[in-house]
Amino acid sequence: MLHLTKKQQNIQHILVFNLTYGERVFYLNEPQYLIGRYPQNSIVINAEGISREHATLLKKTTHDHHFSYLIMDGTIEGGKSRNGIRVNGNKINQCELRHGDIIHFTKEIKAHYYIIDQKSQEFIENLTPNVFSTSQLCDHRNGATETQIIEHTIKKPTFSEITNLASVVELSPIPIIEINNQGIITYLNPSANLKFSDLQKAQLRHPLLQGLTKKKNYNNGSLVIREVDIKDQSFEQHIHYLTKEKLIRSYIFDITQRKKAETELKYHAFHDGLTELPNRTFFDQHISLLIKNCERYNKSFAVLFIDVDSFKNINDTLGHTIGDRILKCFAQRLTSQVRNSDLVCRWGGDEFVVLFSEIENPDEVAKFSQRLLKTFEHPLTIEEHQIYLKFSIGIAFYPEDGENAEILLKNADAALYRTKESGRNHYQFYNSEMSLEIAENFALETELHQAIKNKELILHYQPQINIKTGKVYGLEALVRWKSPKLGLVGPSKFIPIAEKTGLILPVGEWVLKTACQQNKKWQQMGLPPVRVAVNLSAQQLQQPNLIETVEKTLESVGLDPQWLELEVTESILMKNTALASKTLHELRNMGVYISMDDFGTGYSSLGYLKKFTFDTLKIDQSFVRELKQSPEDISIISAIMTLSRGFNMRVIAEGVETQEQLNLLKQLQCEEMQGYFFSHPLSQEEVLNYLLSFNQQKHLIIP
Ligand code: C2E
Ligand code: MG
Ligand code: MG
Repeated sequence: MLHLTKKQQNIQHILVFNLTYGERVFYLNEPQYLIGRYPQNSIVINAEGISREHATLLKKTTHDHHFSYLIMDGTIEGGKSRNGIRVNGNKINQCELRHGDIIHFTKEIKAHYYIIDQKSQEFIENLTPNVFSTSQLCDHRNGATETQIIEHTIKKPTFSEITNLASVVELSPIPIIEINNQGIITYLNPSANLKFSDLQKAQLRHPLLQGLTKKKNYNNGSLVIREVDIKDQSFEQHIHYLTKEKLIRSYIFDITQRKKAETELKYHAFHDGLTELPNRTFFDQHISLLIKNCERYNKSFAVLFIDVDSFKNINDTLGHTIGDRILKCFAQRLTSQVRNSDLVCRWGGDEFVVLFSEIENPDEVAKFSQRLLKTFEHPLTIEEHQIYLKFSIGIAFYPEDGENAEILLKNADAALYRTKESGRNHYQFYNSEMSLEIAENFALETELHQAIKNKELILHYQPQINIKTGKVYGLEALVRWKSPKLGLVGPSKFIPIAEKTGLILPVGEWVLKTACQQNKKWQQMGLPPVRVAVNLSAQQLQQPNLIETVEKTLESVGLDPQWLELEVTESILMKNTALASKTLHELRNMGVYISMDDFGTGYSSLGYLKKFTFDTLKIDQSFVRELKQSPEDISIISAIMTLSRGFNMRVIAEGVETQEQLNLLKQLQCEEMQGYFFSHPLSQEEVLNYLLSFNQQKHLIIP
């Protein structure tokens, strides 16, 4: 027998057969075992398919004075078994057995091979004191014949107990390390050996063992948990102080993934996924710190609210993927322009916020804004697209414009709103009037929700006159809001709010229906039929069911489509050209008239004329207003007249207020007009009188 060190004696090699007539446990220690049916074999397995001399186990001493067992098919002399052997499913001639291996001798007959450490047994005993005692386990340590084992199997641990024993500690994927009070390693399970191969060498210098023996005032059973970072890995170490046994046992959990996930989660909680810029949560934390700091040192900073102009158009025309890339590029360029002390956040969608700190003079912020706007004069290149991004900036200063984050943001937003209103691609500092305007709009918004339900909306109608025939040929329906709180509110005030809140859809439907109903009533009263013109908003035109809504309205009212005209502005068409074009064509096919309102105010009106066939062009009142002084306007209108004839469109001049304008327009061969000169928009009753008197006169007397 080999001379064994104390440690080696602690190791047990076990072969457990799972046979039809029960379990057979063999404690291996002899240099050689012959397994098979032959009664003289050291391990006799008498079962079908097992050869007389089926396999041999050979003890092999390893370099570190441990030993292991080799298993080989047949005998040492070279005789082979009939069915061969498989280790972990692989047919082998011979191989060194490892802990946990499963050896198949036939399909049905198999054995498990375990290497168990004495310490593991003790550990198990501690965990499950009633399962078995160490003495029972140690009884047959030195080899065993089959008879002996059969006699003792009842007292010995069962297969499942051994499996438990082996699996709990030895098979545990969790590294388990045990040291004594002197810091000497007394046990490492295979997982600990594998994972921390440097433990033996480093001993107490190893991060997992550092400081363990210093803490002496723990009670027996105390559990301490700590985190240990080793290179780029993180571990949670559960340290169990077994003071009675003078042992310190550690269970090591790899928490690298968890830590990574936590870090990632933290990152995502504070950053925007698309641009990777800090998000609102980050901003909130940062600005409160900044405020505290500025309060203490009497400093100032600025909040810049930035919004990309017409981003929705970009998304609609180029698609969301390109839209996303544009936002990313925008974020990068924006970030490249700020100083290290500033913070750029993505507020959401196409909105960004910059915290511009350490300000001596508001001019610095103005200069920064100008520089930023200038930077974007160079286009962004994405795929084959060259995109000129325009954006608007609203600026509020701490502490003048607000002493907390909420007010500062609100006021920067108010300034942004103003920038957008005054032509975009610009910046504006906040002033207190802006807040008043915003507050007023907010009040309007709250009240507007009730307006339809409370029947507070009314329609006025403005006659459209043909000066050649002198007849009223149309009436433009113009909505007003009779608010009990706010008085009579004009459309220019509440339509933009209705657009923003989505209320424009019910408002628009109401206008359409009321105008059609009213027109039908006039017809039923026997008045000569006129066309009623209804203004459409951008959102209405984007509704896929607009055609259906118009169709149903006309049908329910019983109005022939030729008596309805829909007015759209160029800016509306720009929102979604493809859909708008399709919708307008279908509406025209239905027999409804389509007119382009406020013609001449947009940038590329002529381009639209090529895409859509309009029935009418309405020359914007801004041209008519200055007709007297401006020869340019005369030439523009004259050009429009020529153009309209080419496209076979009617032209109507809006906002005709004076005889002079009328005469000039007449000279320019514009025959149809609308304006205060003829009539202001009239209430329903007034229109009736107007139409009736008109009807009696048959012709309008043009002064
Ligand atoms: P619009 O469609 O261009 O309507 C013409 C506007 O010019 C009306 O203003 C009208 O009262 C005004 N106007 C008419 N003749 C003259 C004139 O000789 N001189 C001057 N200075 N102004 C004149 P209103 O009623 O305030 O409507 C303003 C705008 O609100 C409309 O411009 C239209 O875009 C929008 N709007 C009105 N009603 C509706 C509606 O039911 N739905 C939608 N979506 N928008 C509407
Ligand atoms: Mg109009
Ligand atoms: Mg107009």
